[in-house]
Amino acid sequence: MNGQPWPATAINPLLTNGSERGILDRSINNQPCFLRGSQQGALLAVLTGKPMTHSEMPVLRSLAATAVKLPMNRPLGTSAKSIEEACLLLVDLLTEDGIEGRAYAFCYQPSIARSLVPIVAELGEQLAGKPLVPLDLAQAVSRYFRLPGVAGPLAMVASSVDTAVWDARAKSVGMPLAVYLGANLQPIPAYNSNGLGLMPPEAAADEAEALLAGGFGAVKLRLGRSHLEHDLATVRAVRHRLPDSVRLMVDFNQALTFSDAMQYAMALDNEGIYWIEEPIRHDDYRHMALIAQAARTPIQIGENFTGLPPMVAALEASASDYVMLDLDRIGGVTGWQRAAGLAAAYYREVSSHLFPEVSAHLMAATPGRHWLEYVDWAAPILQEPLHIKNGAAIVPDRPGNGLAWKNDVVARYRLV
Ligand SMILES: [Mg+2]
Repeated sequence: MNGQPWPATAINPLLTNGSERGILDRSINNQPCFLRGSQQGALLAVLTGKPMTHSEMPVLRSLAATAVKLPMNRPLGTSAKSIEEACLLLVDLLTEDGIEGRAYAFCYQPSIARSLVPIVAELGEQLAGKPLVPLDLAQAVSRYFRLPGVAGPLAMVASSVDTAVWDARAKSVGMPLAVYLGANLQPIPAYNSNGLGLMPPEAAADEAEALLAGGFGAVKLRLGRSHLEHDLATVRAVRHRLPDSVRLMVDFNQALTFSDAMQYAMALDNEGIYWIEEPIRHDDYRHMALIAQAARTPIQIGENFTGLPPMVAALEASASDYVMLDLDRIGGVTGWQRAAGLAAAYYREVSSHLFPEVSAHLMAATPGRHWLEYVDWAAPILQEPLHIKNGAAIVPDRPGNGLAWKNDVVARYRLV
């Protein structure tokens, strides 16, 4: 149609030939598939070039959440805490015409995952009956949480509900999320962030080598021991074992004081490190900027930006060379898009933190995209885990963000 809207007469055969179940759409995964009410509205909007009316928008019926505790293939020993099981909150949105939207939050502790289940249900009661308009719903959620404050675990709830809303919206028009956001489905370079916690040098070298399976060209090592020599010994063992072409990131998880961090950063400048992540307290932007100025190795921060104001403060302070965005702290898909624009305005490359399945779609739609952090923590409950090929994430071409649960596994690992 050369980009022209279809005339109304061209739609009539579709409508009259459609069965009573709706319009037949053969474009979704090459499977015969019938569009539901709001999906028909979306298709007609595309064909006629007329915007969907409010009455054709999908309407939110319910929100529900399930807390699970999953075994991890490779436990993660950070300087702050050792994580051996992945505690996730699975969020399920349902529209009036049966479209499902999904997201998950990484909750760090079982008690946090459990505590958020009734909060999501309560939010669902507030949002039921509202049209599935992501920006309006994000505003409604932020208003609902204004008095307790959209921070910590409540920010995770707000973000994952937003992600589920965008999933359902993209599904309502039959598009992968990345395409719905205006991008194409290109492979996204990923680093393997599984494992490589605090461990002895030889064990770290063995694990680093094993993590290259799948064609990964980059891995991340956790540091932050009390003696610099011990960290350096591990870095050297790992660096020595990896091919020169493999990038090695290191993450201190905020372990160091400013004066120690200056010393560590100077020492790491000679060790072939690709970036140094969160050497000191995440929100000490003034000292972080001094480290970034002094070190030749780039400084990476951002997983702790909760919403835009801390990110603006960090960018204004030149606190880091790179930024990374955490889907569940930055505000879901809505917050990510705003943050990606902000990063572009400050000429910073953007990486992702956790949630590789949804982040892959967002990275595809992010100017200045850098590295996707790959972890396999949600893989046991996913019908189709994220596929990595030649070290890059393959953004799935299914409608929405691609998340679908294995219900039997969810039931097995459910936290009650
Ligand atoms: Mg980190």
